[in-house]
Amino acid sequence: MNLIPAKQIVSKSKKSAYWFDTEYNMNIYKGCSHGCIYCDSRSDCYHIENFDSVRAKENALQIIEQDLLSKRKKGVISSGAMSDPYNPFEQREELTRGALELIHRHRFGIHIMTKSDLVARDIDLFEKINKHSPVLVCMTITTIDDELCKKIEPRVSATFDRFAAIQKLTEHGLNTGVLMMPILPFVNDTIENVVGIVEAAAKAGAKFVYPAFGVTLRQNQRDYYYNQLDKHFPGLKQKYMNTYRYEYNCSSLNQKGLHIAFKNACEKEKLLYKINEINCLLKPKNEEEQLTLF
Ligand code: SF4
Repeated sequence: MNLIPAKQIVSKSKKSAYWFDTEYNMNIYKGCSHGCIYCDSRSDCYHIENFDSVRAKENALQIIEQDLLSKRKKGVISSGAMSDPYNPFEQREELTRGALELIHRHRFGIHIMTKSDLVARDIDLFEKINKHSPVLVCMTITTIDDELCKKIEPRVSATFDRFAAIQKLTEHGLNTGVLMMPILPFVNDTIENVVGIVEAAAKAGAKFVYPAFGVTLRQNQRDYYYNQLDKHFPGLKQKYMNTYRYEYNCSSLNQKGLHIAFKNACEKEKLLYKINEINCLLKPKNEEEQLTLF
C-alpha cells in the first residue's frame, strides 16, 4: 500500500453542539475506497487527491504513540470522520488495531465511525479499553435495502452484516449506535426506510440512532454525486437541480414527516436520538456510571 508522510495523527477535535463530544481526532489513512456516492470528504476544500485510493500514513503507530505521550489531558479519540478506519486494507495492515492497542496502553477512550463489519475483529481491544475509558462504536447505515445500498455505497459491508456487527459488539457489553446519515432526498427519504433502520438498530442492541434528513453538496463533490445519480437514477439530477440549485444543505422535502416518524420510533424502541443524551456515552467511566444511576 502507498504511504504518505505525516507529522501528527492525533489532533485536537473541533467542538460542535451537533456532533460527538470527543477531545481528539485521528485519521490513520488518507482517502477511502468505499465509494459512497455522496461522500463529503471528496470536496475540494479538503485537498485530497485521488480520494478513492487509500494511502496509509508512514510510521503511523510511532507517530500516534508520540502524539498520545504529548497530550496533557486524557480523553476520547474519534476516528472515521474523513476516511473509514476499517477500509479493506485494514484487514492486512492492522494499523487501526495497532492504534487501539496504544490507546489502551495510554488509557484514552475511542469513538469509531465506520461502515465495515471488520470493526468486530477488534472486540478484544474495545473490551480492554472499555474497562478504563469510554468506547463508542458508530455504524453508519443509510438504508435497509441492500440493493439500494449497492448503488449508493457500492463497496461497504452489506446492511445485514453491519447490523450483525453491532449485535456482536453489544453482546460484549460495548456501547454502539447507528449514524443514519445522509438520508438522500428522493432516494432513501421514506418513512419505511427510517423506521426500518430504527427498528433494526434496536433489535441489534444499539443504544441510539442519530440522523440527518438530507445531504450536503458542494463543488466537485456535487458533480461526482450528480454523475452517479445519472448512472443509477436517470432523471434525478434534474429534480435536484430544480429543487436545490447550488445550495449546500439539501434537506429532504419530507424532513418534518420523517423526523416525527423517527422520533416516535426511537421513543417506542427506547433508543436515544438527541446528541446531548448520546454524548453521555462518551463521558469518563465514573461520570457515565453516575449519570446512569441518576
Ligand atoms: S465510508 Fe465514509 S469516508 Fe469512505 S467513501 Fe463512504 S462516506 Fe466517504
